[in-house]
Order: sequence, then structure tokens, then C-alpha cells
Amino acid sequence: QVADTLAKEGCSSPSYDWFQTDSSVTIVIYTKQKDINLDSVIVDHQDDSFRAEILIKDYSYIIHVELSHEIEEDFSVRVVENVGKIEIVLKKKENASWKRLGHPLENHNSLIPRKDTGLYYRKCRLISKEGVTHDTKLFCLMLPPSTHLQVPVGQHVYLKLTITGTEIVKPYTPVSDSLLSEFKEPVLLNNKYIYFLIKIYPAGLFTPELDQLQIGDFVSVSNPEGSFKISQFQELEDLFLLAAGTGFTPMVKILNYALTNIPSLRKVKLMFFNKTEDDIIWRSQLEKLAFKDKRFDVEFVLSAPTSEWNGKWGHISPALLSEFLKRSSDKSKVLICICGPTPFTEQGIRLLRDRNFSKEEIHSFTA
Ligand code: FAD
Ligand code: NAD
Repeated sequence: QVADTLAKEGCSSPSYDWFQTDSSVTIVIYTKQKDINLDSVIVDHQDDSFRAEILIKDYSYIIHVELSHEIEEDFSVRVVENVGKIEIVLKKKENASWKRLGHPLENHNSLIPRKDTGLYYRKCRLISKEGVTHDTKLFCLMLPPSTHLQVPVGQHVYLKLTITGTEIVKPYTPVSDSLLSEFKEPVLLNNKYIYFLIKIYPAGLFTPELDQLQIGDFVSVSNPEGSFKISQFQELEDLFLLAAGTGFTPMVKILNYALTNIPSLRKVKLMFFNKTEDDIIWRSQLEKLAFKDKRFDVEFVLSAPTSEWNGKWGHISPALLSEFLKRSSDKSKVLICICGPTPFTEQGIRLLRDRNFSKEEIHSFTA
């Protein structure tokens, strides 16, 4: 049935094969898809289980085996994009010849709807924790050497901790380590680090526990999720970002990506809503970026400013939006991204729809 549905969407079922040399084993996956890249491949080798999940549209193709022999911790992943071929090269611990790849485990060699795969976690080490505002910190986690995972722009992951015997899971959106470092594809950096900007709520369930972790402690990180697609940037001319509080987090990679990779882009504007000046995340980086790149503008709006504040204030409103949403030309291709507390996002979407922006022109970030 899944194969039928895929066939209707123009996909045929993936398959795999493997071969070996004295020192390596290569698993080759034929996805028969053109839009496969390194973001589409998630590989983990944990304990006795070797698992590769290939994201193909709304499906996952899974290779899941208990390998017949031991391998070294690190492996390499290559994608031949134009034919959708993936090669995972494992290093043998011993030069013996393998008679079989291994013993099949759950869902091995099957294609299943992504919503049915469940969240898969690996343990990541806390590398650093740095204050950003009075209540928000930049956390750096390191993926294990035996994991290949890249979180696509606009997507989030789930972090999991066991708190007094119960597993607690919350979603967080990875960011770049800074807005000003040159944006490079994680592939080029062979990046093993994932950064998060996380606000600590003293009465919260999860964040105080996260904040208590020591450098070197572990947090479980899930596979990425989210509906944002890079293709939404195609031919884009005006990008408007509406962020409130930590709703700024998806905008970080979006900003970096759009300013670096979208040649059609003329203007990127961020309207950043916070309670007070002290709550503004990366204010000076945003101001520096606006100075450095003339296509980018930032405006701060405070809902509880002090009397010294002479900038914009209030909640999201028709007046603030009408001034902000000036397109570079009448028919320019526009995308508006919005993220923040649910009432903020809902109100924002209503106001944008009232201004006749279409559903395709608005992307809201939610769980
Ligand atoms: P919670 O226990 O959820 O409490 C949050 C606040 O609400 C606290 O102030 C608490 O005192 C108050 N509260 C809780 N229960 C009640 C109640 N019954 N009545 C009144 N007040 C109450 N956050 C980030 O910081 N960074 C991110 O990158 C990020 N990305 C996200 C991505 C997605 C897709 C989503 C949906 C959310 C994201 N969040 C992010 C928010 C994050 O998932 C958590 O909701 C947040 O960290 C709070 O978790 P907590 O368990 O510490 O607090
Ligand atoms: P906050 O309480 O500091 O508020 C920031 C601003 O949001 C306020 O200054 C105000 O302008 C606006 N706001 C707050 N409540 C509002 C309301 N009722 N109506 C209109 N505007 C309102 O925000 P915070 O504590 O940083 O919370 C950020 C929120 O963003 C969290 O709820 C978090 O779950 C959400 N978030 C979602 C995602 C996602 O879905 N992808 C990612 C990151 C954060």
C-alpha cells in the first residue's frame, strides 16, 4: 500500500545492497529520488544496533541491523544527488570477510510513513553553556562520533531528560553559533555540534533541569521534525520575519541561509517583539548584521518598556504590520515567517490574512 501511494507521488520503492573490501563495508542505498541530500540521511550506530533512516518525502526508508562483526566508531556518508544514491562506508575492526551484513532488526528494509517511525534518540554531550540574556543561554551539544545527523533549516528536534524517574521531552530549534560567522553548510564543517538558545523558566518542568547539567553530561536528541522547506525560498525577493521572545530561534538559520544562498533576495526584515530591552537575544549581533548587510533591517518592539525606551512598543498590531510589511515592488515574491507564544502567532496570522497575504506566503512555526 505504501509502495502504491509512493508510486502515485512519482516515487518507486528504495532498495539497498552492500559490498566489502578487506578493511571496509559499504552499504549502498538506491532511493531512486533526485532531491536526496545529506540532510535526508540519519545514521546511528549505538550498542549492537546499526540504523540508517532515509527521509523520502513523507516516508522513511529504514536499514536496521545488528551488524555481524564489529566496526570502528566513525563512518562516512556520501550522497550522489543526481541519482539519489547513498553510500555509508563502515570501517571494519578486523580484516575478516563478512558473510552477511547482520541480523535484521525492527523495520529493517522497509518504507514507512514518517509519522509512524516514532522519535529516535541518541545521547549528546553538553560541551558548553553561555549566558546570552538574564534568562536565556546558548547550549552547545556534541553528537556522538557514531551518528550522522544534520538538522535542516527551519526544523526542530526534541530534547529528552529523565527527571525523577520520568522521561520529559520538549521541542527546541537549533541555531547557528552566531549570526555573524560566515554561514557554511554543516557538511563542509563536518559539524558535530548543535547549538540551542534556550530560555530558563524558574518554575518550568524541563529548563531548570537542563540548566543544572554539568559540562560533559548527556542529553538525548531526537531526529529533526518540522514542515519548513528550503524550497519556500525559491525566487524569493522579500523575506519578513516576525519573532517574539525565543520565537527568534528558527529565524537564526533562516536569516543566515537566506542572506547567503538566495540570489533573488532583495530585502530581509525582522520585527522582534520582547517584553524589555534586557530580553532581546543577540541584539548587538542583529545590529551589526544590519550594518554589514544592507539587505537586512531589524526593528525591536517592546511590550513592557522602561520610560527611557524611545523605540516601538506594544503587541503585534495592524499599525505595526502596515508599516513593516513594505514590499520591494508590488508583485515581489514574499515569504513571512512567524514564531512566538501561541496567542502572538495566532494573532499575527489573523492580521496577515486580513492584509490578503495567502497561506503560501505565511509560514508559522509550531510543534
Ligand atoms: P514549562 O513547565 O512548560 O513552563 C513554562 C512556563 O509556564 C513557566 O514560566 C511556568 O512557570 C509556566 N507554567 C507552567 N504551567 C503553568 C500553569 N499551569 N499555569 C501557569 N503557568 C504555568 N524554547 C526555547 O527556549 N528555545 C527554543 O529553541 C525553542 N524551540 C521550540 C520549538 C518548538 C517547535 C516549540 C513548540 C517550542 C519551542 N520552545 C523553545 C519552547 C520549549 O519547547 C518549552 O516549551 C520551554 O522551554 C518551556 O519548557 P519548561 O518545561 O521549562 O517549562
Ligand atoms: P515572552 O513571554 O518573553 O513574550 C515575548 C513577546 O511575545 C512579548 O513581548 C509580546 O510582544 C508577545 N506576546 C506574549 N504574549 C502575547 C499575547 N498574549 N498576545 C500577543 N503577543 C504576545 O516570550 P517567551 O517566554 O520567550 O516565549 C516564547 C514562546 O515561543 C514560547 O511559548 C515558545 O514555546 C515559543 N516558541 C515556539 C517555537 C516553535 O514553535 N517553533 C520556537 C521557539 C519558541
